Order: sequence, then structure tokens, then C-alpha cells
Amino acid sequence: MTDKQQVIIIGAGIAGLAAARVLQRAGISCTVLEARDRGGGRLVNEPIAGDQIVELGGQWIGPGQDEMYKLVDELGLQTFPTYNEGHHLLEFRGKRSRLAPHKGAIPRLSPFALLDILQARNRFEKMAARVPLHAPWEAHKARQWDGQTWESWIQRNLRTPAGKIYFRLVCEAVFSAETTDMSLLHALFYVRSGADLDTLISVDQGAQQDRIVGGTQLICQRMAESLGAALVLEQAVSRIVQHAQGVEVHTPTQTFHGTYVLCTLPPTLAGRLVYDPPLPGYRDQLTQRLPAGSVIKFAAVYERPFWREQGHTGQYVCTEGPVKITFDNSPPSGTPGVMMGFMEANDGRQMSLLPPEERQARVIQRLTHFWGPQAANPLQYVEKDWMADPWARGCYGAHFTPGVWTAYGPALREPVGRIHWAGAETATVWNGYMEGALRAATQTAELLIEKMKNSS
Ligand SMILES: Cc1cc2nc3c(=O)[nH]c(=O)nc-3n(C[C@H](O)[C@H](O)[C@H](O)COP(=O)(O)OP(=O)(O)OC[C@H]3O[C@@H](n4cnc5c(N)ncnc54)[C@H](O)[C@@H]3O)c2cc1C
Repeated sequence: MTDKQQVIIIGAGIAGLAAARVLQRAGISCTVLEARDRGGGRLVNEPIAGDQIVELGGQWIGPGQDEMYKLVDELGLQTFPTYNEGHHLLEFRGKRSRLAPHKGAIPRLSPFALLDILQARNRFEKMAARVPLHAPWEAHKARQWDGQTWESWIQRNLRTPAGKIYFRLVCEAVFSAETTDMSLLHALFYVRSGADLDTLISVDQGAQQDRIVGGTQLICQRMAESLGAALVLEQAVSRIVQHAQGVEVHTPTQTFHGTYVLCTLPPTLAGRLVYDPPLPGYRDQLTQRLPAGSVIKFAAVYERPFWREQGHTGQYVCTEGPVKITFDNSPPSGTPGVMMGFMEANDGRQMSLLPPEERQARVIQRLTHFWGPQAANPLQYVEKDWMADPWARGCYGAHFTPGVWTAYGPALREPVGRIHWAGAETATVWNGYMEGALRAATQTAELLIEKMKNSS
């Protein structure tokens, strides 16, 4: 039997590790239990040749994500700008064009399509501004907005095929989900939570502006180092028992005792644990309805970023799948050249059914189409199918399906007895992002500290 801790934290992603630091600094004893053999969760560095890494999980931070910049600084890490010099390439229904890389850049389309997009974006932002971040279900039109998918809204509010495609691409890129998957209210909440649509999809002045030298997993490694023995790896929690004196947290090999639990798992995974006594039906029904997005992230490694020599940023947006977006993900030195991309939503789902070699061949064929014959023979190709990962079961994060915010919203953050919830999905600001995970974890840890102070 292990010593009783004041808090048992489940999950050593950025949220779990940040919560542990806050608790330890306040003199509260805690143990962090992590299923994997590493911390970081949805942040992961994959080693490649030459002692380099590529990031296969979350990687960017941008303006407004103040807590992340502070944390990076505090941990002695550095940021560098995402490569964004030259032109983006855009292939819209078979027609290729170049696009300047500044914030708010809109593809060169027909005047009708442009007007359509601008009007719809304006309407969307105005609606989003009316969603209360702490309680989206209290928006004046919450029921109406939650009673439809984002796609239904697109069908009613956009007139041109290009305009509809633009919004669908944004949805895939931001949520790795289809517009048909998601509640309109959720799309509005999420966009407001991270500022606005432009910020979410932009590089300069947007959420993709900066990267971390050495990769984001370093953030978690540094935090884990400072926790020492409080972090216990390869402990997959399977069951939580609550009783009058505290909690028991069971893994296949050990039982951990505590006063409180702070669970940082994404909602779907939290719903798969066994609870004794069982969770209230209201909370369990919520976790049945918060699916994770569908994404495979890949990186093709070349001797150098040859696309830069032709004046390209490395960003290619294409309306044809399975790869609809790429980025130059080379390290700050520019060597090797790393071309990174995503297979998202239905593309990700379809591609996950293929054998890896076949999938790789499809990706390389698309990269060759985008960037020419030099892309045909990467030195290395790596990828991660987040849907297949048993400790994520999809990414980037969870989305609310229609009707869920209004029927179950309050259950998202409401503690169940001694169990508290925190993570990217419970954040009010920058929901779904590292910044959101960090803020939600800090707030919940502080709430627990308050609770313990008041009860002592
Ligand atoms: C491909 C990809 C790209 C992304 N891009 C960005 C980006 O550019 N910028 C950004 O801000 N965000 C991005 N994100 C999202 C970001 O990574 C997440 O929001 C953030 O990392 C979530 O942190 P978390 O601690 O809340 O959850 P997690 O990282 O999921 O942490 C939960 C932890 O719990 C562990 N766990 C699961 N089940 C159990 C169990 N039963 N017992 C014990 N432990 C368990 C998991 O292994 C994990 O370590 C991206 C994510 C992905 C996958």
C-alpha cells in the first residue's frame, strides 16, 4: 500500500503536471498516475535521425496564450516563429493559386464567393460574441444554436459552393471533425474561447505563430523532472472508489490512497473508468456524448526545406483529401527540412483503415503533387494515428455534438464527490489548446487548495 496523498492526479499531460506543480508549491502532497511510459500525453516528440525530433502532437502557441509563454519562459525553454516567409499555395477545387501569408488572408476566389465568406464570417463572429464562456448553455439562443449542426448553419448562411467549402475546411483544420459532427453552439463557444476565427487559423498573430525549440514535450519533461517521485509512470488507472475518509485509485498493480482525485483525462476516457459508487447518470451520459476528433499527423523529412528555395512557406491548403493542409515544420536551423501535414476528420478516418505502407504511399504521392518531384523520396517518414492511441482515442480534442451543451453542460466541470475534472476540454478560455489545459488545471488545483484550507 502507498502513503495517503492529499490529491491523486490522473494523467500526466500538461494539465496533470501543471496541477501537480501548483499543489506541491502550496505544500499539498500529491501523486500523478500516468498510463504511458512518458509524460506529455497529447504532446509528443518523435526522435528522427541526427539526434533531432519531430512533434507528432500539439506544437504551436500564439498571442493571447499568455500562460503558455510564461510557462515556457519559467522552464528555461525558448520559442521560435513558425516558418512563414514567401507564399502559401492554395488548391481550390483543382485550381492552384498563391496566397500572401498575413493574418486574415482570404483565398483568391470570385467576388461572389469572397463576399459570401466575409458576410458569413461576420455573422458567425457576432453570434460567437454572445456565448458566455463559463456557461454556453445560457446563451440567449443556446437551444436554437445547439439544436443544429454547424453544417446546417453553413447550408442556410452560405450561398456559394466555395464559401461552404471554406467553412468546412476551417472546421476540419480546427477540430479534426466534420461540420456534420458538431453542434453550432460548440463551434461558436470554441471560437470565442480562443479569440476569433482568424486567430484560430492564422500563423502570424494567430494560434500557429510560435513553436518551442526542442519540441513541446520538453515542457512536460521539465515539469515532470521537478515533480520527482510524485510522478508514477505505467500506472493505468482503471477504478476509483470514494468513501467517507477519501478515495482509492486502482491500477492493475497498485492501489493509491488520497483525499481527493483530480482527473485530467479527456472526457471519453474518463467515462471508461469504473467508479464506485457509480457516477451520477447525468455525468456519465455527458461523457458518452463527447467524441474526440479524428486525426493522423505525419512528418516527411528531407535533407533541406527545398520548398523555401521556390519562395513557398510550405503551407499548402487543398480542397481534395486525404492531405488538405501542410506546414514547414523544420527546426530553427532549417536542417533537416520537415514537411508536416494532417489527415483530418473523414480523411483521417478513411486513412486509418489502410495498412501503414499504403497510407505512407498516398501521403508521399500528395506531397509530390503539392511540392514537385523533390518531395518523392523523403529521408524519413513518421506519423501518428491518434485515433488508435489507447490513451487518447482521438485528437485534437473532444467536441460537443448537437444538444449536448444545453442538456448536459453543467456536468462538464461539476465535481462528483471527491473527484474533480480538469484538462483541455474543461477550459473556458482556449478550450482544446495547451493554454486551456494549463489554465483549467491551475484553476482546479487552486480550488482544491482552498477546499483543503477550509476543511483543516
Ligand atoms: C496532432 C495534435 C495537434 C495539436 N496541435 C495543437 C497545437 O498546435 N496547439 C495547442 O495548443 N494544442 C494542440 N493540440 C491539443 C493539445 O495537445 C491538447 O489540448 C493538450 O495537450 C491536452 O492536455 P491535457 O493534459 O488536457 O490532456 P492529455 O495530454 O490527453 O493528458 C491526459 C493524460 O492522461 C493519460 N491517461 C489516459 N488514460 C489514462 C488512465 N486510464 N490512467 C492514467 N493515465 C491515463 C494520457 O496518457 C495523458 O498523458 C494538438 C493535439 C494533437 C494530438
